[in-house]
Amino acid sequence: MLENKKITENDIVMSPRVYKPWEITDDIINKIPKINYYGLTKEQSEGLNIIVKKTLEEIRNDNIDREVALVYDLNGFKNQNGEWLLKATGETNTDKIILNKNSDIAHLLNYETKSVVIISHNHPKNRIISLLDLSTLCSEPNIYIIVAVTNAGNISYIVKDNFDRNKYLEISKEIISSYNNVPVDNDVFLVDLLNNCERFGIKFFREV
Ligand SMILES: [Zn+2]
Repeated sequence: MLENKKITENDIVMSPRVYKPWEITDDIINKIPKINYYGLTKEQSEGLNIIVKKTLEEIRNDNIDREVALVYDLNGFKNQNGEWLLKATGETNTDKIILNKNSDIAHLLNYETKSVVIISHNHPKNRIISLLDLSTLCSEPNIYIIVAVTNAGNISYIVKDNFDRNKYLEISKEIISSYNNVPVDNDVFLVDLLNNCERFGIKFFREV
């Protein structure tokens, strides 16, 4: 069951299923929930459920401390080799830096005009959607949905729903000014942004 209720800092690390950070077992992969994603058809959701599962399979065969992002376009973009499922891996996060490491993904984000881009990636530290994920979604017009699956198989995601970039910038400023110039932890800002994201046209769901 995925919910989009308000969250607190205690919700940032997702409740571990059988969480051992050093291994991704078949059991974890087989228990990843099947989701009807907001804004996707049943068929598109079924496709994404397969890709999310494949995300953990990919990282299990690589280095489970890293992040892998599997990226595709609902409109069917293919690279010169005819591949529709594009992959980027990196040490830190699924921000623009990692995505741009793959030139096909960079092209898809920067030059295709009518793409509806889906990103599935893993979070090794069992955390929900990150600040970088949210800012990536908000700054990339072609990206429609970002799913984070933890190495323990828990899912959270953000999806556009009448996204308004100006409103995003305005609400971000409003949140920052509410801190009265006192520096806050990134997690505090993340929680505040996620609890307000529907005001700028992003929906956030997490597994509870
Ligand atoms: Zn992420």
